[in-house]
This record gives sequence, structure tokens and C-alpha cells, in this order.
Amino acid sequence: MQAATTRALQESEESLNAIFDAGPDAMLISNNEGIIVLASRQVEPILGYKPKELLGQSIELLVPDAYRQEHAEHRNQYIASPTTRLMGQRREITARHKDGNECTVEIGLSQISSAIGVFVASSIRDIRDRKSAEDAVRAHAEKLRYLYELSPLGIVLTDMEGRYLEFNQAFEKICGYSAGELRALDYWQLTPRKYEDAEKKILDDLACTGHYGPYEKEYVRKDGTVVPLRLNGAQVAASNGEKFIWSIVEDISSRKQSEDKIRELAFFDHLTGLPNRALLHDLLRRAISSSQRSEMFGALLLIDLDNFKTINDTRGHTVGDQVLTKVAELLKKSVRNDDIVARLGGDEFVVVLVHLDSEINDAAGSVKEIAEKILDVLDHRIQLGNSSFQCTASIGASLFRGAETTQEDLIKQADLAMYRAKAMGRNTISFFDPTMEAAVLARATLEQELRIALDENQFTLYYQPQISKTKEVIGVEALIRWLHPNRGLVAPDGFIEVAEETGLILSMGHWVLHTACLQLSRWAKMPEFEDLTLAVNVSAHQFGQADFATQVQAILLTTGANPYRLKLELTESVLMVNAKEIAAKMSSLKSLGVGFSLDDFGTGYSSLSYLKLLPIDQLKIDRSFVRDVLLDPNDAAIARTIIALAHSLQLSVIAEGVETQDQQKFLDTAECDSYQGYLFSKPLPIDEFEKFHSDA
Ligand code: C2E
Ligand code: CA
Ligand code: CA
Repeated sequence: MQAATTRALQESEESLNAIFDAGPDAMLISNNEGIIVLASRQVEPILGYKPKELLGQSIELLVPDAYRQEHAEHRNQYIASPTTRLMGQRREITARHKDGNECTVEIGLSQISSAIGVFVASSIRDIRDRKSAEDAVRAHAEKLRYLYELSPLGIVLTDMEGRYLEFNQAFEKICGYSAGELRALDYWQLTPRKYEDAEKKILDDLACTGHYGPYEKEYVRKDGTVVPLRLNGAQVAASNGEKFIWSIVEDISSRKQSEDKIRELAFFDHLTGLPNRALLHDLLRRAISSSQRSEMFGALLLIDLDNFKTINDTRGHTVGDQVLTKVAELLKKSVRNDDIVARLGGDEFVVVLVHLDSEINDAAGSVKEIAEKILDVLDHRIQLGNSSFQCTASIGASLFRGAETTQEDLIKQADLAMYRAKAMGRNTISFFDPTMEAAVLARATLEQELRIALDENQFTLYYQPQISKTKEVIGVEALIRWLHPNRGLVAPDGFIEVAEETGLILSMGHWVLHTACLQLSRWAKMPEFEDLTLAVNVSAHQFGQADFATQVQAILLTTGANPYRLKLELTESVLMVNAKEIAAKMSSLKSLGVGFSLDDFGTGYSSLSYLKLLPIDQLKIDRSFVRDVLLDPNDAAIARTIIALAHSLQLSVIAEGVETQDQQKFLDTAECDSYQGYLFSKPLPIDEFEKFHSDA
């Protein structure tokens, strides 16, 4: 019986062993006292023991010292009330390897009750690999967590609407918002409008390649400051297909600052903060091409301080530096915002004036004006603390339009001109182009001389007869002449334009009117002359004065001239501005008896509507039509039309510049009313005219 039992047991043990050995897990069967009765082959790779070594040993051999004591108790409890625990129920325990080390295994238990007693089957799975994979994943996750939390880079997860879903502290710091605030905001609320297009492109990139960047942009932080950023990111998809974007956000303010600093060092003068030579070249190039587009002249002024070396030598470099800084400041104040002020080095500055004028002489005139303003500003002692410095300069100017001259050439030209300014006695401006300089100089001289002429009464009036159909002198046109002390008699073409531009025309015109009216009142006492009308030219500027009518009235009053003998010659351009005001002025003069003739008729705007509305008495056919009236059928037609028009409006017509009999005959046939021109007489000084008239 004993032997049969033993054999049976042995047989069943062998078959059990065969089953056990086939499984991937180690199998142990122990009896109710914890003695191992069966061990599968897999125990060796897991626990280090050969199966044989374990047979007859207590299961506690495999329990680490620390748990051995309580293990026996647990085992007894388990025997008393067994529950089957399947493998994979994640019961991890620590076992003791043969080499004494501990190893983590997963264990499943079940109780076997048999005729020969209660046994416990333990299946033991080696989970070292799984364990280390899990550990690796955990370590990896932890590492990522650290990187995420400790990264100085902002890391942020947004959904496709730009809402912030997850972000690290660095990101909060970059944005200046708290985590709570950020969750309520989205990307667009921090992004300035100007990035709209760039953002669209980012979304395209994401759609095409799955990532974007590096992309530089700005965020507006909570405090309103702007932070420059560099972003890189990638799109990820959740298992449900929803898309998100992970972005790495780098605050690049300090990089930007150093870039700016480098730029500043490379392109700006340390002392004055003005653009230096390198930047000047760049700016000048742009100014030149812009002048080409706008067809407006620009100018480069090279400004060299005359006495800077003395200041530096006698007062020291610190004071010298302060003077230079002050000069820079004054230069900037002397020009418009678009203009460029740069420092070439030492006491040399450059001013580039842009968009001056499309007329070269007008451009040169403005250059001269601005240069003189600069000289004046510098000359007005520079105040530094208690000391003041006179800082005269020599300025060389060179004009440009279009790309004919290079930047280098322009600077060279201005440099040459500057040396000439020095040679000319300093504190002055000189142009590279000598003819321009002569023109500018002449104009400036003219202006100066005109002022003197007005003060010293160097003007006189000439009188040109106006002749009726019947060849009688019916009136005169007063024409101004300048009796220049050196140049002799100067015709108005040589100075009226400058007088207009400088405003001197106002006092000049007043003088003409006054003189003409004096003449009228004298003639009033001379029977031969009392019926003559006197035409006076009035410039637009002059007529434009608000009190013009009052001025005329006052002159009429003080001279005692008969208003009915006075005729004012206006050009069409006078009538084009502010029609209402013009009409009021003309009407008030008309009510005094003053007449109006429209000078140079046909050359102006020829909008005829005003002819009906304004109290005009006469049209004056321009000299240019009269000149060619026999040669050019077009001019002949114009002359005829003007005459017909005048008559249809009950206006009289006078033709000016009549030089030949044939011209006069033509006009006579066309029914012109009166004539003026060399055919009858040139403009004459008063005594000659009076003689001319008396002899007639
Ligand atoms: P305007 O008002 O058209 O004056 C007529 C000009 O034609 C005068 O030139 C006169 O000398 C000239 N002239 C007259 N007959 C003939 C002719 O048969 N052939 C030619 N070729 N020319 C003739 P002037 O005196 O040199 O005046 C030129 C312009 O100066 C005037 O043109 C007028 O616009 C302006 N001006 C003259 N005096 C005054 C004045 O007192 N005040 C203002 N504001 N302008 C004046
Ligand atoms: Ca005239
Ligand atoms: Ca005229």
C-alpha cells in the first residue's frame, strides 16, 4: 500500500513535472507545512535553484529574511481560508534568489486538496524584464517631467483653436499670466495683429509637415510689454483623431537686446547716437533711389565745424564731446523727420535732405535756406553749463536725383564743396556745382538788393500808351522798372518772381498803386490828360491780402485820384482761388468806380463761368496770340473768339503786344476795341510819355 501510494505519487509527480516544465512560469507545490514537494524547471532561471535543491525545503527559503517570519503565518491563514489568485492579478512580491539577492516576481496561488492532504500550488513569473521596462518608462516619464518643470523654455500644449491646455511654469513666466488666467485666454489674445499672416503660414506648415518653426514672433504680456519669442512646435493627434500642438517657446529678449546692441555699435555713433558712416551709406542709397522714384531732388550737406579743434585743445575732450553731442541735437532739430543726420567722425556731420523739389533751382534754394538756418543755429552760441561756445561751420552741398551719382561720389562732391566753403572764409555754404552756386548766390543777392531798393526808392514807373480804334491815346499801363545803382534799368521779368516768392511784392505793389494814383491825381489837373485811364498790374499775392480793397480805398483817398480812371489788371490765376472772397473784393472796389481788366487772357484756366459772375470790364488778349495772329490760324481763331466772347458779355477788348500794322489791321477787322504795343510806343518814362501824348 505504502509502495503503491508512493509509486502513484511518483507517477503523478512525473506527469505533473512534465506539465509544469512546459509552462513559461516556475511552479512550486508545497504541502500544508510549507515544504516544497514539487518544483518545475523554470525555478532555476528565476530563483537560481535547481528543482532538486528545493525539494524537501521549506518554502520560506525563498522568502527574503525580512518577511520570513510573517510568511509562515500568512501561509497558515491561506491554508485555512484559501482564495485562488490568478496570475496577472498583479500581485508582486519579493523573492529571495539563491545568490541572496532579492528579485521581484509575480505570483499566483491555488490550493490543491487531495486525498493525501492540502497542497498549495504557486506559479511564479519572472517579471524582471517587464519590471525594468516599467521602470524605464517611469524613469523616462520622470525625466520628461523634470525637463518640463525645470525647463527655462516655455512648453505649451494648445488645441487647434489656440486655447492653452497644458503649460509649464516657464511659459507662465514668459507670458506674465498666472496658470488660471492662461487657461481662460487663447493664443490670439497674446499675439499682436501684425502676425496674422505669419500665423496662417504656421498652420499651413503644420498641416503639411506636422511641425513648424523656428518661428520668431512677439507676445503681449499681461503688463502690456512685448516679449520677443522663438517658437518651434509639432502637431500631435489624440486617439480620437483630435489634433493638438505642442510648442517650445523661447524668450529671446536678451538675444534681441544683444543684437540691437551689436547693431547700435556697428551702425551708430557712440557719442551722439547718430547713424555712423556705415549706416549713412545705406540710408543714402535709399534716399537716392527714392529721389529717382519721386523725381524730387535731394541734397547731401557735409558740415564741418570751423573751430572745433580749438575747443578740444583748450577745453579738453570732455567739453569737446559735449559740444559734439549738442551739435548733433541742434542738427536734428533743424531738419525734418524724414531727413537724415549722421556723423562721419571727428567734427564732420552729414545731413541728407530728401524730397526737396523737382526744379533744380528751387531745390538749391531750399538747400541754401536750410544750410543757413543750420549755420545760424550753430552760430548762436552753444550753451554748456556756464560756458557758451560759438560753433561756426562750413557746409558743402551736393544735389542728387536718381542714381547717376553713387553715395561715395556724393560725399566726395560735398567734401570738395565744403573745402571751398572753408576757403571762402568759413561759416558759409558752398555748392559742388558752381553754376548752381552762382544761381543761388544771385538770387540771394537779388533779394537783398530788392529790400534795399524798396527802402531807397529805386523803382520807377514807365507808361505804355493804350490806343483806341481811332488811334487816340485813351489810357496807359503802368509798368515797373528798377533803376539799379550798378546794373541800370532792370525790367520786371528780372525781379518780379523773386519779389513774389519773398513777399516783397506786397510793399512793391503798394508803392506802384500809390505812385500810379499820384500820377492820376496830377493828370486830373491837366486837361490833355484828365480822361486817361491808368492800368496797374496787381499780383495774385497782392490781391489775395484780406485788406486789399481797403488798401486801395486808402490810396485813392490820400492821393485824391479818381477811381473811375483806375483800372486793375488781374490775371486769371487770381480768380481761381476762393471765388466768393474775390467776388466780394472786386465788388467793393467796383462800387468805388475802379475798373478791372483781365490780363494775359487766354493763357490761364479759361474757365469762363467767372466772367459772368465778376465785375470785369475788359479782356486783354495775351501778347502770345497777337504775335502769331497772322502766322498761326489757331492763334487767329483764339483772338477772334476772345473778341466775340468779350462783346457777347458786354466787355471791351484790348490787344497787347501789337507790333505791326498788319496785326493791328487783322484785329481791327475782328472788331478789337483798343491796342497796346511797340507799334504805337514802348513803355516810356513819365516825361517822355507826356511828350508823346502832347505831340500826338
Ligand atoms: P504784362 O502785364 O503782360 O505787361 C506787358 C509786357 O509786355 C510789358 O513788359 C511790356 O513792356 C511788354 N510789351 C508791351 N508791348 C509790347 C510789344 O509790342 N512787344 C513785346 N514783345 N512786348 C511788349 P514788362 O514791362 O517787361 O513787364 C513784364 C511783366 O511784368 C508784365 O507783363 C507784368 O506781368 C509784370 N509787371 C510789370 N509791372 C508790374 C507791376 O507794377 N506790378 C506787378 N505785379 N507786375 C508787373
Ligand atoms: Ca499787364
Ligand atoms: Ca499781359
